[in-house]
Amino acid sequence: ERATDETTIHQLDEHTVARIAAGEVVERPASAVKELVENALDADATRIEVTIEKGGTESIRVSDDGRGMTETDVRRAVRQHTTSKITGLEDLESGVESLGFRGEALHTIGSVSKLTIRTRPRADGTGDETPTGTELVYEGGDVVAVEPTGCPEGTTVVVEDLFYNTPARRKFLKTTATEFAHVNQIVTRYALANPDVALSLTHDGREVFGTTGQDDLQAAILAVYGREVARAMIDVEADGEELPVGPLEAVSGTVSHPETNRASRDYFATYVNGRAVTSEAIREGVMNAYGGQLGGDRYPFVVLFLEVPGDAVDVNVHPRKREVRFDDDDAVRRAVESAVESALLEHGLLRSRAPRG
Ligand code: ADP
Ligand code: MG
Repeated sequence: ERATDETTIHQLDEHTVARIAAGEVVERPASAVKELVENALDADATRIEVTIEKGGTESIRVSDDGRGMTETDVRRAVRQHTTSKITGLEDLESGVESLGFRGEALHTIGSVSKLTIRTRPRADGTGDETPTGTELVYEGGDVVAVEPTGCPEGTTVVVEDLFYNTPARRKFLKTTATEFAHVNQIVTRYALANPDVALSLTHDGREVFGTTGQDDLQAAILAVYGREVARAMIDVEADGEELPVGPLEAVSGTVSHPETNRASRDYFATYVNGRAVTSEAIREGVMNAYGGQLGGDRYPFVVLFLEVPGDAVDVNVHPRKREVRFDDDDAVRRAVESAVESALLEHGLLRSRAPRG
């Protein structure tokens, strides 16, 4: 019989815990890119450059001209559950403005990669002193170097050899082409939602796209999807009384002519209160509006922004899951359908159909 103080249960060391937990947040290069771009947007960047090698499996670099960090900030930023964005649960309940708030991305990415952060705070304009830059190197969950460095204002985060210390996860990465496609989709989503930010994506030395940051959705679509698609987009704009009764306050954005379509849903970029999401209700609403004019398995280009009251949708969803659920999915579906249908009708792009009662 065992003595009462003997046990087979032991505490895992923090690195093991962090690497296991990392799988929850960082599934593939695209998830790291998402977190880093969100951080740059939260730092009020006006220019963000995303540069990846081999679909992001070899390296990811996200460079911004945002607020930047002091040495003290950056040392804290890589620790677990450290954030400048909320102070407590009350902030979440009252609705967060920032994209991040969990304070785990940098720590998590850094536990399963070699992470280098170069950052310098924006000068505050008083001209008193120009803060210097800091370079922090973090490897597999440990800070291995912190040094002053000359660098422009803003932040550059470099992630190398993602999953180098979690071989099982590394093995599950797909081909360069597939990983690149995921990254491309993420960066595209943020480029379309933030036309006031000049956002570029470069893969293996080739620029994939770059928006100009001139705060024009049409210009961002031209940069991302090219001229043919940009020409085929029509505006969607509905609010208040124009929408059926439901939780939706406004729907705006742009959708393509029925003839400009693709055999893939990858060109649906939909947002709820500024966050990129996927939603069955939104998808169905859009497809219903086209009323079967696209032909089987064809989908339009869609960029739609929905505004809903904070309590009609839960933003505190899992970091990896983008599928949202509304309080009233059916009302959202009908409102989206009505907004898109009005836009198509206004442009004479719907075959006549029986008026609805
Ligand atoms: P969260 O975004 O949830 O706060 P992160 O781990 O992503 O958590 O980042 C931790 C903190 O590091 C942020 O709250 C922010 O203060 C700082 N930070 C991260 N990235 C940047 C950046 N690009 N520019 C300025 N500050 C940043
Ligand atoms: Mg973050």
